[in-house]
Formats: sequence, C-alpha cells, structure tokens
Amino acid sequence: MPSSNQKERTLKEKMQRSLPLIIMLLALILVIGVTVVTCVKAIGGTSNKTTTPQQPIEVHPVTETAIIQTTATTTETTKSTTTRATTVAKPKATFALLAETTTTISLPPRTVSSMELSFYQAVMNVGDAPIFPVVFMIPDDALDIRIKMESSDEAVAVITDDNKISPVGEGNCIIHVSAVANPYATADIAIRVEGKTDSVTTPEMSTPSQTTYTTAVELPEDPEEEEPKIEREDIVVINGITYVKGIMLVNKTYPLPETYNPAGMTPETEQAFKELQQAAKDEAGLNLFSHSDFRSYHTQAVVYEGYCARDGQEEADRYSARAGYSEHQTGMVIDVNDPSYSFNGSPEGEWLAENSWRFGFIVRFPEGKEEYTGYEYEAWHIRYVGKDWAKEIYDSGLCLEEFLNVKSQYP
Ligand SMILES: [Zn+2]
Repeated sequence: MPSSNQKERTLKEKMQRSLPLIIMLLALILVIGVTVVTCVKAIGGTSNKTTTPQQPIEVHPVTETAIIQTTATTTETTKSTTTRATTVAKPKATFALLAETTTTISLPPRTVSSMELSFYQAVMNVGDAPIFPVVFMIPDDALDIRIKMESSDEAVAVITDDNKISPVGEGNCIIHVSAVANPYATADIAIRVEGKTDSVTTPEMSTPSQTTYTTAVELPEDPEEEEPKIEREDIVVINGITYVKGIMLVNKTYPLPETYNPAGMTPETEQAFKELQQAAKDEAGLNLFSHSDFRSYHTQAVVYEGYCARDGQEEADRYSARAGYSEHQTGMVIDVNDPSYSFNGSPEGEWLAENSWRFGFIVRFPEGKEEYTGYEYEAWHIRYVGKDWAKEIYDSGLCLEEFLNVKSQYP
C-alpha cells in the first residue's frame, strides 16, 4: 500500500504531466474562437447590419421598373416565338435585374423609347375648347402607344377623360406626357392660360374638371357627331349604334359613340376565338393568337393621330380608322398574329379566310374590296358576327358592306 506521501507525489507528477496537454487544449479553443469571429466578420454577420448600408434607397423604383419591363418582355417573347418568321428575328431582351445600383434596362423590342409632340407650348384662354397634342411614338412601330397626361396645376389646366388639355384658370402649368409602356419616355408641354376673351362666354366654373366651352365657342368640325342618314327600315340606330339586319355595323359611314366601351372582347367573341385557335392547331398545326383586339375610342384616337403624323391623313385613312370609326371599339374584332401586309397570303391568313366563318368570324377587309370596305386587304382582321351570318356572308363571297348594301365613306 503506498503511504500518503507517496500518494501526493504521484498526484503532483500526474498534474505536471497533464499541464502541457491542458495548455494546448486552451490554446486550441482560443484559436478556434478567433477564427470563428474572423469568419463571421468577413461574411458580414449580424453585428455589421446596422453599420453598413449596402443598398441605396433608390433600389426600390429600379427594381419595380425592371419587373414591369420583364413582364412586358415575357409577353413579347411569347408572341415572337409564335409569330411566323416573316420579320427578322427579334433580339432577345436582357435585364440588369440583379445589379444593385445600375438603372440600365434593355427595353423589349417595339417598346416606346421616346416621343415627339406636335407642340410643346400653347397659349389658351379660359373657356377654350380642350386641345391635345399629336403624339408620335419612337419607334413608329411601337406596340403599346398609350399615353398618360398629368397637369402640374389643376387650377390652370386639367386633363379630360379623353386625354385633352382643358384650360380652367389663368396661370402657367406644365403638362407632363409619358408613355404607359415606358415611364421614362416623356415630354412636357408648357401651357399658359390667359383670361377670357370677348368672343367666348364662359359660365361660372364650379369645379375645375368641368369642360367649360359653350355654344359661343367655335368648335372644330366633329364628323362623329353627325348621325348617319337612315332611309332603310332594316337599319336601326340604338343609343347611337347602328345595326343592319341585327349586325352591329361600324365603318367609315357608321361610327360608334365615344362612350361605347365594352372594355374588352365580348364573351361570345372570346369563346369563339378560343374554338378557332384550337381548330387551327388541331387541323392545320397553326398557332393563331390575338395580336390586338379591343381598342377604346381614346386608344384609337392616339393610334390614328400617330399614323396621320407619320404618313399624312389621306394615307392613314386607307389603313387606320379615325376614333369612333374603328371596328376594334366593338370588342368583336381580333387582329390575328401579325397585323402587317406580310400576313396576307400566309398559311395562317389563308386558313382564316377559309375557316373562320365556321366559328362565327368573317375576314372583314378581303382582297379587292377596298372600294366597298374603305380599307386595304387585311387578312388578319377578323370580325365576329355569329355563326349563321358568318356562313351566309362567306357563302355569298361578298364583303360585309356589299352584303348589307351599305357604304363606308367618311362624311
Ligand atoms: Zn384590325
């Protein structure tokens, strides 16, 4: 048995032997600790969050814009994949979505990049009829040419529902015009509104948004307001809309009222077009889609004015309708795939000509009928009239104007 002295000695010896091991363990713990702290610092751990602002505040609008543009591209890309290769392959749009601070955004093809106006300043009198600039979008084949207008001072001039500038009070203001498709495409108009003139009598204005001209003001000639002459029993006008044999008729003689707005394709038209699309795919392997369908009175006004600014009114009247005279306002019209003359004679165009009647559509402006329809041949523009009428019109070989024995001429 070892004595107590021996026990103590043995313990001391043991401790002396283990000491270096303990020191090494402590050193190891220290090294690991330092390494961990360094790593956490390096990757920007939680302790750094409040002291290092990595994103500038402007990142929000940038991100939002990029998202809008991305959505537009998705649509455009979908379309371009299904469009026949009649045009040069469109460049693929790219985006700097993930870049932290850059605002560089490549726009989808055929997006408005800038705009020109027919005037950039105007002097008006309180009580004058509203005016509007002709807006010419660049590029001139931009797909979405809708604009938005804002007044810097609504006590001086207000924007009417149909995007006209209406002077309401003396003073100066800026009308800011921007493209809906690209808010960076803008233009400003400086407006100066002076007091009433002698030739104009203006009623007291209760609200600045009222249109304030009276009969004393000489208004520009407004052909839309002329009711078509009705001499036939089968022509019926209800709420300013003309029906012949029960078919809603819209052409250069028979306009729609500005207020007529189904706000999209009618349900019958939409359903019939779905069936047509399916049949084209199943029977002929063709991919048909709506390039554009419903256009409101106002949208048409902008479209037409743009064409007039580019080609002159006489030429524009051959292929584009004046506001109120466009069949697109009915919600029963679709421009299929590619509304350009390269679509005429294409397999898709031929298929529509031979088959769209089965689904209640007619090719509205057939080849060789310009003197009746008032428009050049448009293989892509189909109009829903219902299956019974569509078959009868197709079988007759006549265009709608001939079939209904009506004219299509601007007054
Ligand atoms: Zn059309």
